[in-house]
Amino acid sequence: MQLTYKIAAKLFLSLILLNQALQASPNIKVLLGEFDPTKKQIFNIQSEKEFLLKTPKTKQFLLRSNKLQILLKNNVLYGRGKKGPLKKINYQEIEIKPIATHKNSKTILINKKPYHGTLSLKFCPKTEKLLLINTLNLEDYVYAVLLAESYQTWPHEMQKIQAIVSRTYAVHQMTTSRRSSNKPYNIKCNNFHQRYTGKHNYHHLRRAVDETKNLILTHDGNVVLAMFDACCGGSIPANMTGIDFSKAPYLARTTPCHFCKNYALYNWKRTFSEKQFISKLLAYSPLKNKFRSTRKLKTISITERDKAGVVHNIELTFAPASTIEICGSDFWRSLNSDVRSQNFSIKHENNFIIIEGKGFGHQIGFCQRGARELVRRGWPLKKILAFYYPETKISQLKVVKNANV
Ligand SMILES: [Zn+2]
Repeated sequence: MQLTYKIAAKLFLSLILLNQALQASPNIKVLLGEFDPTKKQIFNIQSEKEFLLKTPKTKQFLLRSNKLQILLKNNVLYGRGKKGPLKKINYQEIEIKPIATHKNSKTILINKKPYHGTLSLKFCPKTEKLLLINTLNLEDYVYAVLLAESYQTWPHEMQKIQAIVSRTYAVHQMTTSRRSSNKPYNIKCNNFHQRYTGKHNYHHLRRAVDETKNLILTHDGNVVLAMFDACCGGSIPANMTGIDFSKAPYLARTTPCHFCKNYALYNWKRTFSEKQFISKLLAYSPLKNKFRSTRKLKTISITERDKAGVVHNIELTFAPASTIEICGSDFWRSLNSDVRSQNFSIKHENNFIIIEGKGFGHQIGFCQRGARELVRRGWPLKKILAFYYPETKISQLKVVKNANV
């Protein structure tokens, strides 16, 4: 009788554990920074109580200090606790876990900025850089991303939509980074992927994440590349050229979004003096060599544009007789802080360059300002997501084919 009870109790416990494992979110590895190992760099790391440290060749060990200083100097890492001399770390990688008295106070601070999860420092032989990576629970990551990619004053429904979009984008990165590269991280913490600035305490954003827990967008059972930007400017993504929509048909939206038209950057205009304009192009390193033998700017014209309005090529002529071709994406990147999208026109008048454009961002996928307006008009969450990502559906992370994360 007692034995049967024990077996039943064991079975019950394993069922609970299995259920927890299914519900648990995976961890995501976020690249916080890349550092030149020949240059001096100090990382001041802090936890509430102590740290657990691990290197590839040592077992996890306890550091009885809530402060840890790591110094990078001449390709070598050195470390010390609260007191004592700096000691050489004889490994290419170190993992740092914070220990706290309560799980809610489990925060790791690096140079006074708080983060969820753990940190690791790792030398990357391919790039010859030292990488600083933050590993954390996917749901905590989405919660942190909401503050950086959304506005905390936006309505709750908008936060839920952004949570689904950002989670989907992250899961897509987690799956593709594993398949196509051997990078020790899944996602960058900036606009290259999506912005992540660490832990915060906006509890209403946590509610939006909890209410959409594990929900992602899928197309034909696969996780969607959920691209998003601030304002589409009315561009129709299906009319863009140079994008292989066969891999992501849900990004080829054919219906225009003009719901963002009241946003300040739906239409924008910037004026540069010739000198300002050329110096901005020159400051962008891929263009630097093109400008070797230039003198006075004569003309500037757009020589290739697609049906969506996206500029693909620009021609500049200079006195006495030289011509420079610049591809649209390089032109946009070089003027990125002023030119808000690749959808623009250019005028050259009285020694000034006047650029007028539409939208803010790459203009593909989810348009945040348009969605914000649709929430105001009372569109339900599902309908808004289906508008920006046609033929996708909302799925649970665990049932997705390629979400083996
Ligand atoms: Zn829009």
